[in-house]
Amino acid sequence: MILFCNTNINRLLQVIVVGAGPAGLLLALLLSKKGISIQVLDGAEKLDSQPRATHYAPPAVYELARAGVLDDVRAEGFIARTVCWRKLDGEYIAGLDGGVLDGTPDQLTCLPLDKLGSILYKHLELQHNAEVLWQHKVTSLGQSQDKAWVEVETPTGTKKMEADYIVGCDGANSQIRRSLFGDTNFPGKTWDEQIVATNSSGQTYYDFGKYGYKDANFIIHPEHWHMASRITQDGLWRVTYGEIPGLSREEILARQPEKFKQILPGHPGPDGYNLASINPYKVHQRLAEKMRVGRFLLAADAAHLCNPFGGLGLTGGIVDVGGLYDCLAGIHDGKADDSILDKYSDVRREKYQTMVDPISCENLRRLFDQNPDTALETDEFLKMCKRTETDLEFAKEMQLGVNNLKYDFRQDYSKTGASVL
Ligand SMILES: Cc1cc2nc3c(=O)[nH]c(=O)nc-3n(C[C@H](O)[C@H](O)[C@H](O)COP(=O)(O)OP(=O)(O)OC[C@H]3O[C@@H](n4cnc5c(N)ncnc54)[C@H](O)[C@@H]3O)c2cc1C
Repeated sequence: MILFCNTNINRLLQVIVVGAGPAGLLLALLLSKKGISIQVLDGAEKLDSQPRATHYAPPAVYELARAGVLDDVRAEGFIARTVCWRKLDGEYIAGLDGGVLDGTPDQLTCLPLDKLGSILYKHLELQHNAEVLWQHKVTSLGQSQDKAWVEVETPTGTKKMEADYIVGCDGANSQIRRSLFGDTNFPGKTWDEQIVATNSSGQTYYDFGKYGYKDANFIIHPEHWHMASRITQDGLWRVTYGEIPGLSREEILARQPEKFKQILPGHPGPDGYNLASINPYKVHQRLAEKMRVGRFLLAADAAHLCNPFGGLGLTGGIVDVGGLYDCLAGIHDGKADDSILDKYSDVRREKYQTMVDPISCENLRRLFDQNPDTALETDEFLKMCKRTETDLEFAKEMQLGVNNLKYDFRQDYSKTGASVL
């Protein structure tokens, strides 16, 4: 059906978002505030509490502000100002001081993912036109010219749910992506390197501040490469380190105390810290063939993956969500036809290919694939960090470069207000 809408007439758009992770909840919040009816379906029983994302770069912070949650995020989290690269013995190589961005609105913000999810969920619960349905696992999909639908497994049986558009925000193993492109079709690569993410609260030996550690510290070493960053106001730290590929979970857990003893400043034994969580992850660089197929859209991890060093994973996902929100809001308002969704797919894929993928790969290789003693002479990025120490304008420019991830789809709204639904 083709409808030509006057710019003043709102279409009563209905959208299903699959996945109540941070990307799905944020999209649902933005769309519901726009007056669009939203159902969020999630196969799990509750919000995910895995220790994954913690840091959100300026373009993601911009979207959190647009959704009206940034004040809450900042109240529970904090602005992470300093980041640096070091040798294993703690010797400082180079770094960036986010203080040069003080006074600008979108500074790098830190808050563990589960807390971000809770804030988004709390705000979404206030929207009368949005509902989150837990234990609703999507198993397959279909679409016609007029509608899209998913088959959903629930505790009371299987049902079919339909909407004008369905957005897959269902994470790395996205059923929406697999149903659209095939179970194994997610082009890219998996790193040989194994990473282990831990959350630890420090006591006697484990006081990073005592060793002059910054908010985020990347340690360059061929074997003991790792990252240590403060992730809460009250002293919880994330340590993410590289491990030998091919170890079982049990072997990783057994090796952790010795690993910490070798890599952490002060060389603490297990009685020197509280290990709140430990999780091994395989890391990937992958991008779906398209982020739009008819009435189905993909966003965030469902569409693309990258390694976590540098915090570009969810940051890129949140920027997708902000863009997709503008596209769907444009259709809802009759200011855009649905070809804007092809533009969404093209632009967001291009941003992944030209920024997220190459920069995150460099961020990881920088840690294990060079000699820490000569890194400052050979690594162009570290040379640039060094320059920021004396060139404040350059420091600002370098740290705001990540804003190139943004793209404002409102510039692609058509003047006629034609809407194809
Ligand atoms: C160790 C680590 C550290 C990281 N640190 C950072 C960081 O600092 N900054 C950053 O930007 N990124 C970081 N990332 C990446 C970030 O965590 C992910 O990009 C982000 O969590 C993805 O969010 P999402 O909403 O797309 O997916 P998810 O958080 O994976 O949510 C997907 C949701 O979909 C649901 N679901 C799945 N399948 C179905 C189905 N069939 N039916 C219904 N529901 C379904 C799941 O239950 C889940 O709730 C890190 C990742 C790791 C592993």
